[in-house]
Amino acid sequence: MTSNGRRPARAHASMDNLRTYLLAAAGRTPERPAVIQAAGGALDTVTYGELERRTDRIVEALAALGLDVGERVIVESDTDADAVAVLLACATLGLPFVPASPEVPDERLLAVIDSAEPALHLQPTDGKRTGIPETVGTARFGPDGLTVERPPAPRPPRRRRTVTPVDTAYITFTSGTTGRPKGVVMSHRGVIAFLRGVQAAELITAEDRVAGTAPLQFDFALFDIGYALGHGAALVPVPRGVLNWPRRFLTFLRDAGVTEVHGVPSLWRPVLRHEHELLAELGKEGVLRRVAFSGENFPLDELRSLQKLLPEAEFSNAYGATESMAASITTVPNPLPPDVERLSIGHAVAGAEMTLIGPDGRPVEEPGVLGEIYLRAPSLFSGYWGDPEATRAVLVPDPVDPRSGQLVLKSGDLASMGVGGELYFHGRVDSQVQIRGNRVELGEVERRIGEFPGITGAVAMLLPGADGEPRLFAFVTHAPGGPRPDAKEVVAFCRAALPAYMAPHGLHVVDEFPLTVNGKVDRSALTALVTGP
Ligand code: ADP
Repeated sequence: MTSNGRRPARAHASMDNLRTYLLAAAGRTPERPAVIQAAGGALDTVTYGELERRTDRIVEALAALGLDVGERVIVESDTDADAVAVLLACATLGLPFVPASPEVPDERLLAVIDSAEPALHLQPTDGKRTGIPETVGTARFGPDGLTVERPPAPRPPRRRRTVTPVDTAYITFTSGTTGRPKGVVMSHRGVIAFLRGVQAAELITAEDRVAGTAPLQFDFALFDIGYALGHGAALVPVPRGVLNWPRRFLTFLRDAGVTEVHGVPSLWRPVLRHEHELLAELGKEGVLRRVAFSGENFPLDELRSLQKLLPEAEFSNAYGATESMAASITTVPNPLPPDVERLSIGHAVAGAEMTLIGPDGRPVEEPGVLGEIYLRAPSLFSGYWGDPEATRAVLVPDPVDPRSGQLVLKSGDLASMGVGGELYFHGRVDSQVQIRGNRVELGEVERRIGEFPGITGAVAMLLPGADGEPRLFAFVTHAPGGPRPDAKEVVAFCRAALPAYMAPHGLHVVDEFPLTVNGKVDRSALTALVTGP
């Protein structure tokens, strides 16, 4: 019974619930490590048995607050065993968690709170966040459980008691084009379907130790947690402070015995600049066996350099959007054959299918022809939080057979098919722009510029020129120590292979691309270089 005499919610043990799925190993192998984490200068191992005990302590404390199934809880933390226990406790009680990172600015967190209307804000005992609105309860968590600071406001009586697989497991807020955060609502059934699809590929075993590098607010972090625990393996959250220090990062991987590293491609840039030897040693020792990357294209030069240092390692390219957690995870040949110009994103995970739909609304059958990726899968999100219109724009009737009533995800991503039916990512639909009436694929421009000797990365964008007319601009990075690329030569190089309207009007050489907090190229920061903030 809870403090207000109501029976706490429960999930049926035989039904899909994130807690049951991710703690399955606690029944089979309670003594195995679930989370290996930095603790001061040392490493702390939390076993599956201990993770389950910590989860249950939090469940008990949360249940006493008398919240109903569906009430949101903001969990603001770096990834560690206690944060994972909190997420699993929320899942147990059917309380959708909204993950947030401590580095999120106050204003942004308040916008998320405004939209999600959570009952509760949780942070670790040493969390620094203040100024949570009075309408939201606050509590702190640690290995010993939960300490409530301000109980949630009294709630009107509600009707929900049973947690079902279609209930919301979590809501992740992404930036959204309107400036308001956009909440992607994911059900227990959805996220588990995706994780099972990945598991069917048998990429790792319970012996593995998977390093996660994404901040908790991104669903990559949830993928890392789900992937590691779903396999009964150990999750190794890499402390945020270590990521920008390549030597400390690699030393941490070695000390923790990490076998697989997950992250955005930019994660490897500092290592490739400064720590060749140490990385090569890790590879030779045979401990670091796999690298999985996701979120954006891996610049091929950088990928090839990384493969040279890790010749024995397996590489995987994970593709997809928050709206389905992801869609595919594909092995990348190591070494990449010299003639490869574009990475494959392969086929969807087991139980899902990616179909290419052409501008005529029909499936694209021929290799090499561009179409938009539509994803048919049990892992599709439930909708955007409080935004049915935006939801209807992407969860659309299956174009292959609209009569079925089946909804599929219109991804906004362009791809072409290879001879084996595997897909190749060509950029976003909205990266197709019109220049003087001609349709231009920004990705094609970037690819050509990227072939210019010494250029290591290129981002093309349509931006207003001095006269206010939209013009094609390119931002490039170049090999450290090499000559700065000359704008005129690069334009001539583009004109040699592309129509004149696809050659950039202006070229900006930058030392490195600004990155978003999850490590992807920050296009709006690049825009500001030209247009001012
Ligand atoms: P956000 O929308 O905040 O960037 P998402 O993770 O939802 O975060 O981004 C999904 C998009 O990122 C995809 O639709 C695709 O355009 C791009 N993307 C994701 N994974 C890859 C990949 N492996 N290769 C190329 N692009 C990718």
